[in-house]
Amino acid sequence: MHEIVVVKQVLGIAIEHAEVNNAKKVAKIYLSIGELRDYIDEWVQRYFDHISKGTIAEGAEIILKKVPAFSACDCGALTKIDRNNMYDLVCSKCGSSKLHINSGLEFLITGVEVID
Ligand SMILES: [Zn+2]
Repeated sequence: MHEIVVVKQVLGIAIEHAEVNNAKKVAKIYLSIGELRDYIDEWVQRYFDHISKGTIAEGAEIILKKVPAFSACDCGALTKIDRNNMYDLVCSKCGSSKLHINSGLEFLITGVEVID
């Protein structure tokens, strides 16, 4: 899973944030993850727990928010992407199949809560 690399980056950013703010501990990390990402909620936390051992981010709680997936069409319409039917997707307004992904691939840190 390529998410391993991303979780490592999340840890690095959280630690950096805590250090810049002279905090003693990272309490919570808020993530926004697109629906199209292959991840398992509990797996992200479990993996984070594993790699954060011995750091100031150890024990931090990861709060995940799912970002719905939409595709955009040249006509301006957004169409909800059904993961199970991604390749037959057509624009909900004009029926075009020339769509590109507008959202759903995010893996963003939206907040880091620290304890001073
Ligand atoms: Zn369209």
